[in-house]
Amino acid sequence: MSNVKKVAEGTNFTAVDMGKLALLPETANGKAFLKEMTKATGTEISLSVLPARTDLPIFHSHKQNEETYIILSGEGKFQVDDQCVDIAEGSVLRVAPAGLRGMTNSSDEQMIYIVIQSKENSLEQYSMEDGVLLEATPLWK
Ligand code: ZN
Repeated sequence: MSNVKKVAEGTNFTAVDMGKLALLPETANGKAFLKEMTKATGTEISLSVLPARTDLPIFHSHKQNEETYIILSGEGKFQVDDQCVDIAEGSVLRVAPAGLRGMTNSSDEQMIYIVIQSKENSLEQYSMEDGVLLEATPLWK
């Protein structure tokens, strides 16, 4: 069950609304996946909420995708294989596919985090190598 709603779509974009992130546990079982709704072709992005003082119940690895975790709130620990690091708002972790990962939120607030999943070694160009500056008229004015 997801609360992700498509709000607009054009030839070159899809816009969705996930609602209030803090409400994800009630509306989407704590996790909202965006690939299907946004029609993304190179990444799976999810937003998750781990309740206060809660461990993520499973450890996992991946077959071919690396994951980047971006912590937006909460504090806790993130374990990869035999290492454990402190995490809090602003922490960013990239985990290789084979890394056995798990995490805990040891704080009294929800841990809200983004996970970006993409095929390891698939990015060939990025930022200004891939960006193209063009003239356009802002429609918001
Ligand atoms: Zn994963």
